[in-house]
Amino acid sequence: MKKILTILLSAVIVISSCATASLNLLPDKNSLPEQTESTDIISEENPVQNTAQSELSAAQEESNAVLNEKKKPMIALTFDDGPCELTDSILDILERYNVRATFFVQGQFVEKRQDTIRRAVKNGNEVAGHTWRHNRLSDLSNKDMAETIVTTSAIIEQITGVPSPRFFRPPYGHIDWRVKNVCAGLGYALINWTVDPQDWRLLNADKIYIEVMNTVRENSIVLLHDIFSTTKTAAERIIPALIEKGYELVTVSELMSHLYEELKPGTVYGAYGLRH
Ligand code: ZN
Repeated sequence: MKKILTILLSAVIVISSCATASLNLLPDKNSLPEQTESTDIISEENPVQNTAQSELSAAQEESNAVLNEKKKPMIALTFDDGPCELTDSILDILERYNVRATFFVQGQFVEKRQDTIRRAVKNGNEVAGHTWRHNRLSDLSNKDMAETIVTTSAIIEQITGVPSPRFFRPPYGHIDWRVKNVCAGLGYALINWTVDPQDWRLLNADKIYIEVMNTVRENSIVLLHDIFSTTKTAAERIIPALIEKGYELVTVSELMSHLYEELKPGTVYGAYGLRH
């Protein structure tokens, strides 16, 4: 009998500790302490307390909505080679639909378009480097390679006032063992892509739209270029269509932190870029 009681007691302890553990997994937004506090004062007789209860339900519903929101499949749209005169119109589209993207910019153009860069970051987009002047990295010495990566990050940070991500996109997606070694030494990861509609070759909004919609899936990193008006026109259709399909459009950092504990310096993410 004593043995049975001991087993039951252990089971109760295990169940209660599991409950505590699962509570810890809930998000701190619409926080549990607030709900626990409200629960303490609720009784059926008091209308004030009933109000508290309905507020509690509303808070719970909101909390569930936040959880459901997080379950949406993600896609990261990326725009390369700018900033240019079309970048603001891409920002307009992103703003209209309240979504975010990542801009891989050339350092040489950043200074001339400071307002665009600041606007992009202010709206929750991400700005990361694409070297200073679209250099093919393997053509450069180790020293020049490091310089083109670091100076581009530095000017982005200087203009936005926020730390630039510790990753960049190599022009043409071109990477070799030396590029990886230099990036590992600098502490940078390399971000290529998983979907390439080849907008630079198609130069046709309908074809770019169809290519993207036929090839995206959850966790795609989509390669686009904000320097082509056909890409801008395609983006006007792609963005609402992806939202309609239930995707959440996020930055590369958001997607990466969803997929990985941390990005490893010198490592390439987005395998298809390697074909270039
Ligand atoms: Zn490029």
